[in-house]
Amino acid sequence: MPKHNDRCCSFCGMSESSTGPLVQGINGLICNECSRRVGELFAEINRESHNPQKVQFDDDLPTPQAIKDYLDQYVIGQDEAKRVLSVAVYNHYKRIRYYDATHQDDKARKSDKKKVDEAPAVEIDKSNIIIVGETGTGKTLMARTIARMLKVPFAIADATTLTEAGYVGDDVENVLVRLLQAADYNVQAAERGIVFIDEIDKIARKSDNPSITRDVSGEGVQQALLKLLEGAVVDVPPNGGRKHPEQKMIPVDTRNILFLSGGAFDGIERNIASRLKSNVVGYGGSKTREAIDKHNMLQYIEPMDLKHFGLIPELVGRFPMLTFLHPLTRDALVRILTEPRNALVKQYQELFRIDGVTLSFEPDALGLVVDKAIESHLGARGLRGIMERLMLDYMFDLPSMQKGSEIVITKQIAQSKLD
Ligand code: ADP
Repeated sequence: MPKHNDRCCSFCGMSESSTGPLVQGINGLICNECSRRVGELFAEINRESHNPQKVQFDDDLPTPQAIKDYLDQYVIGQDEAKRVLSVAVYNHYKRIRYYDATHQDDKARKSDKKKVDEAPAVEIDKSNIIIVGETGTGKTLMARTIARMLKVPFAIADATTLTEAGYVGDDVENVLVRLLQAADYNVQAAERGIVFIDEIDKIARKSDNPSITRDVSGEGVQQALLKLLEGAVVDVPPNGGRKHPEQKMIPVDTRNILFLSGGAFDGIERNIASRLKSNVVGYGGSKTREAIDKHNMLQYIEPMDLKHFGLIPELVGRFPMLTFLHPLTRDALVRILTEPRNALVKQYQELFRIDGVTLSFEPDALGLVVDKAIESHLGARGLRGIMERLMLDYMFDLPSMQKGSEIVITKQIAQSKLD
């Protein structure tokens, strides 16, 4: 919860107390994470302009394996979720092609009410996905990485900002405003885009979920979201905000938009455990009980657990795919520091290389960084801030360092900088 008088990042809106220090610009503020993302974005844009290798929408369909291989370059571990996402995205494309082939004239379809309801011989359903995983384990990263690989508009919406029409907050249509913006208001492109709804667990029904404190009933928001998920044509106010009668609306057909959603579902382990327990009792199998990994209960999640948590059955039904992320182990955090294509260690090495200095880290030093991140309970999210702290003095001195020199960060150095 943002504290009173807390400053917020002008990009993501997160408060300083939750993201860490903000940098002040002329007209706004930026947090560490957003500045990193902006950096990544520009790096990608620069790369693209030299080497356009995005998968073309109309060219060959990227296979699930190709999508997973791409994810592997950026996201550590989480194999099950990667496979589920890869298949869902592949099917999304196939569906759209099929849809286009069976609905030739898009414009005629839109203007002719009857044609909207005219179904082809077989209607292939969408596979919207819910990803359940602790915060900072890679839900958003995965969604973002997929969107970057595929040339489709992509928008992230935070379910906590949504409210039922008539309450203070954003109407659910604002989710589509973001998508339209991402598509430069090309409605046809937006209608094939991907929306990631973050923190879907926060709109769970309160009565079934003691951990939620917000009041405006989550159920109303869930009902409103259903409209988008059911593939209706939704009127979107082009500039967002509240709808008002004189405003010109843009109709957006949501039937081909892929919805991904993510949430931490804090406490859902209890629902899973009690379901498993009753199963075990029911079948009397002591083996099943032994096989349960109590430290990673999310892997056993099933749609009914989401219902018990407080998502309405209709909403759960609109997300036919349910997958989970593993909690990040110490080993995974070390890999996150070093292995992804844009791993933090690689980024710093590049920064130093530009100034002609070779930078390396001893494994123990990275281990210490990871331990600090674990201590701070920020998981992977905390790595960046700790690395910044560790490297600050070096970066300050970097321009005056001798070209060709070499810096090795040892555990002792890391300890002295971080303590
Ligand atoms: P959330 O699950 O809360 O959506 P994010 O995807 O935003 O978490 O993760 C926060 C940051 O942590 C990412 O930007 C990335 O730098 C890092 N991170 C988290 N999980 C992974 C992972 N599995 N592989 C690589 N980096 C990760």
